[in-house]
Amino acid sequence: MNVRGIQGRFSLVVVIGLICALGVLVLLVARERLTVQSLEKVARESITKLVSSTITANTRATATQMADAMANPLYYMDLDTIGAIQSTHRKLPSTKYIIVYDEHGRIVHDGTEDILSFGMPQVDPLANQIIGSRAPMTLQDGMMLDVSSPIMIGENKIGGIRIGVDLTEVKRQQDVAIAQLHNNMQQRIRRQELAYILAALVAIVTSLAMLLYVNRRIVHPLKRLARATDEFKGGRFEPVIDDGNANEIGVLTRSFNRMGRNLELYDREIRNMAYTDNLTGLANRFAFREFLEEAIRPNEVGEHQMIGVLFFDIDHFKRINDTHGHYVGDEVLKLFSARVFETMKKHGADAAMLARFGGDEFVIGWPSGVWGSDQATTAGASREHQRVVTELANGILETMQAPLEADGETLVIDTSIGIALFPDGDITAVELIKRADSALYQAKEAGKGCYRYYDFELQQRSERMLQIEMDLEGAWKRGEITVAYQPICRLDTNAIVAVEALLRWVHPEQGHIDPSLFIGMAEASGIIDVLGKEMLYKACMDIAAIKRELPDDYHLALTVNVSALQLRDGILPSMIGTALRESGLDAKSLSVELTESAVLQYAEVVEAQLDRLRRMGCEVWLDDFGTGYSGLSQLRRVRVNGVKIDRSFISDILTDDEDLRLTSAIIEMARTLEIQCVAEGIEKQGQLDILRERGCEFGQGFFVARPMRAEALREFILERHAEIKRLQPPELF
Ligand code: C2E
Ligand code: MG
Ligand code: MG
Repeated sequence: MNVRGIQGRFSLVVVIGLICALGVLVLLVARERLTVQSLEKVARESITKLVSSTITANTRATATQMADAMANPLYYMDLDTIGAIQSTHRKLPSTKYIIVYDEHGRIVHDGTEDILSFGMPQVDPLANQIIGSRAPMTLQDGMMLDVSSPIMIGENKIGGIRIGVDLTEVKRQQDVAIAQLHNNMQQRIRRQELAYILAALVAIVTSLAMLLYVNRRIVHPLKRLARATDEFKGGRFEPVIDDGNANEIGVLTRSFNRMGRNLELYDREIRNMAYTDNLTGLANRFAFREFLEEAIRPNEVGEHQMIGVLFFDIDHFKRINDTHGHYVGDEVLKLFSARVFETMKKHGADAAMLARFGGDEFVIGWPSGVWGSDQATTAGASREHQRVVTELANGILETMQAPLEADGETLVIDTSIGIALFPDGDITAVELIKRADSALYQAKEAGKGCYRYYDFELQQRSERMLQIEMDLEGAWKRGEITVAYQPICRLDTNAIVAVEALLRWVHPEQGHIDPSLFIGMAEASGIIDVLGKEMLYKACMDIAAIKRELPDDYHLALTVNVSALQLRDGILPSMIGTALRESGLDAKSLSVELTESAVLQYAEVVEAQLDRLRRMGCEVWLDDFGTGYSGLSQLRRVRVNGVKIDRSFISDILTDDEDLRLTSAIIEMARTLEIQCVAEGIEKQGQLDILRERGCEFGQGFFVARPMRAEALREFILERHAEIKRLQPPELF
């Protein structure tokens, strides 16, 4: 039970109230008992006092009376009269003795006929005290009350009288009276206690009845309302049972039910709105997701449905919007969806749902039959499933071939379709849609106007690419991208005359990333500007440092690759100037490598920049020469200091005559134009020999040296220099 709830609190109050009431009752009972006890005590004492004082007073009066009456008879020793005086009193059952004695304390009369003790002294313990006293005395010895009075004649005591009263009977009667009193009192207490117990029982029963009432009439209906409110959250608007109560709870229940009915109506409306696409009247992405979630759920016997999900959009839809306006765009979307819907019907996809995901993106979810449980039928069903889905995709593509008439405009549109099939692994509806979406991307990549089935590996690759692209930003700062240097040697002397700076990226998870890949990404995202600048500075610094360790007459050049994009805004010369100044490297020692395509792309700004560079003293080389389609024509337009024959020619130079002839022609051309020539990608001695034989001046490749870090490069150059010096006469070097 919730102690904070009404029932809990009410019960707590009732229990506390009951405990207090019972406490008060117990106190009252205890107090009553104490009162009765003290009353009893007082009564007992009063009775005892009253009885003993009455007996004493009576006996005393009798003793005094008899003493007066016996004065003369004693004086004359008239024993008969003495006997007669006491005879009446002696008959009382409580009178034990009446002794008359003379002035010496000797017994004169003991109340008996024969007076056997006549003349005898009194020997009882009280006698001495009494004999010597001239005043009446009352003494008690156990249950015996002794009342005495002197017998006087004038002033002379001539004897005395003692009356002994046995108190046993009096005491017994007194005890009987007290016991009766006690009984009366106890009865009274019991009656009182019974009354209290009855009162307590009535209080408990009343409290329980109140609790029950509160529970039934307030707490229970409130709980029902609370449960119904929770149900509302789950979209269930069942009315709460109305007990027909006229009280506030009844009113509340009826208002609540009215509110539930209204909410149900709103909910239905909102769901309709939330699940429908306004423009086309089709289901929207939320409705589609729910539909697909329901469709991929296995049935009671664990069987799955076969589902085809087709994700498609209109190729170049943005262009339609931009050219013809959004109104035409909207019309196109409506007509497009209507055509797709027609096609679906033609292909028997009645159970399918067509939804608009937003913009020009549409999706079809087509559950078509149950996935068999045995292997043979499964394979057949799978093929059949794929066949019908493919037919539908082809149908959609075909139906787009007829032009659309949208608001007086005739338009030809095309669509690309991505398809994912279910079952295919343990996937959710969202993942299935994602697969179809990525298949659409693959269809777009494949040239649009076609369909593609989801390809896991392709998807993985594109996800990996996306990750790499995201990680590229800041990779230099994190120290993941570094610069490697590949030596370029003179083919006749083997001397290292230049090094090419090459970027290296070791990704923390994916390892080594190919520069051709990440440089393309850096160009596409614009990161190349920062990356190129950082690389240039670092390379200039490294090579300047190495050059300081080489002899003054050793000419070592640094060549850096410059991408087309770095040329577009014309700041390359000044950037190079700053790098040279800061590193202390002389301009003559720096060459830039450009590809033919870069030169072509920014032809109008390239020439001026290259002129500036040359005026500064830097050299300009054409990289990957022979691969571009411009070739010689570029050499005419842009004056370069040299060309680097692409390694694709060199790799087959020993086996492919064509490549050898082309390479020889490039070498010859360079010589004619009086420009230098580097052969890239030399991997074998044979390649080097033939290039040397054909008159190629410089070579670069794994056979000469692989790209290496600055420290290794320094060692490599110093060693090679020392070796050449040792082997060759100085004039050849
Ligand atoms: P590239 O400018 O033609 O660079 C030469 C490429 O050939 C380098 O590949 C180098 O490692 C490779 N190579 C050299 N000798 C051999 C050999 O004997 N056999 C084979 N198979 N390959 C050899 P890398 O480092 O992968 O660079 C690829 C391309 O990336 C470069 O081609 C260049 O276009 C670009 N690149 C590299 N670093 C930079 C840079 O800092 N800026 C720019 N814009 N592009 C760069
Ligand atoms: Mg290069
Ligand atoms: Mg190259």
